[in-house]
Amino acid sequence: MEKKVLEILNERKRTAEMKAKENLLLALSFKNFKEHYTKEKTLIIEKAKAQAMGQIFNSYALKTEIDQQILILGKNNLTRQDLVPQYFCKKCGDTGFVCGEECDCVKQIRSDLVLKNFVDNNLKTFADCDYSIFDNNEIVGFYKKMQEWAKTSQRKRFSVVLQGYTGVGKTFLQQCLASEFLKQNKFVVFKTAFEMNNDFLKYHTTFDENKLKYMEKYLTCDALLIDDLGSEPIYKNVTKEYLYLLLNQRIIENKITIVSTNLNLEDIKNIYGERCFSRIINKNQSILYQFKNSDLRLKKA
Ligand SMILES: [Zn+2]
Repeated sequence: MEKKVLEILNERKRTAEMKAKENLLLALSFKNFKEHYTKEKTLIIEKAKAQAMGQIFNSYALKTEIDQQILILGKNNLTRQDLVPQYFCKKCGDTGFVCGEECDCVKQIRSDLVLKNFVDNNLKTFADCDYSIFDNNEIVGFYKKMQEWAKTSQRKRFSVVLQGYTGVGKTFLQQCLASEFLKQNKFVVFKTAFEMNNDFLKYHTTFDENKLKYMEKYLTCDALLIDDLGSEPIYKNVTKEYLYLLLNQRIIENKITIVSTNLNLEDIKNIYGERCFSRIINKNQSILYQFKNSDLRLKKA
C-alpha cells in the first residue's frame, strides 16, 4: 500500500481512538460512573471464567451495571458507543484490510488523493472547455464525443489514443476525462509514461514484499491515463515487456486506458514493436484521434 494511503488510514484510526479515549476520560469524571464501569469490567471477566468452566452466569448484575452507565452518560449527552473508537470505515476499522484483502475504502482514498492532487493543480473538467479556442468543428465534435464516451456505462471501446504535437490539447482532454471518471468514483491512475516506466523498472528489480505495489495500480485501476508515451527511455526487458503485459490484461478485462503521445503510428510500431503496437492501438478496440497543429486557434494560457 502506498505511503500516503497508509498515512490517511493511520490518521483516521488515531483520531477515532483518541476521541474514544477522551470520551472515556470525561465519562470517568462523572459522578458514580467509574464504579459501574469498573464493576462491569470485573463482571465481564467473571462471566468469561464461568463460561470457561461450564458454569451458569447470571447476567442480571452485568446488565444493571451497563444500564446505570447508560443513564449517567445520557444525562451528559454521551452514549456507550462514544466510549469505543468510531472508525471511519466500519468494515476494516481503518486498517485498510479485511481478511487480508484490501478494503474498498482504500480504493476511495486513492481516488480522493488523485482528485485532491488534480484540484491542487487545477484539473480541467469538461465544464472548463472553452471551445472557442479550437479552430475547427472536428475537434470540438471529438471533445463532445469523448465527454459522452466518458459518461456512458455502455461503451464498446475501452482504449483511446490521442496523438499529436505538444500543446494541442491532448493532456487537457486527458484531464477532462480523468475528472469525469473521478466524479463517477472510479479508481483513476494518471501518470506520465516516464513515471510509469520507472515503476516498471522498480518492479523488475525489486525482490521483496514491496515488488507488487509498483505494478498493482496499473493493472487494477478502473481508468489508466498515460501521458506522453514515447518520452520515456526504453529499458531492455522492461519497457516494452511490461507495457504489453499491462495493456493486454486491461484489454482482456475491458478496463479503460487512455494514452497520449507525440509519436506517429509508424514510430510507435518501430519503437514498441508489432506485438505491443497492437495492444496500444487496435482498429477494433481503440478510439484514435490525431490532433492537428492547426486545431488550436491560440495557445492555452
Ligand atoms: Zn475499510
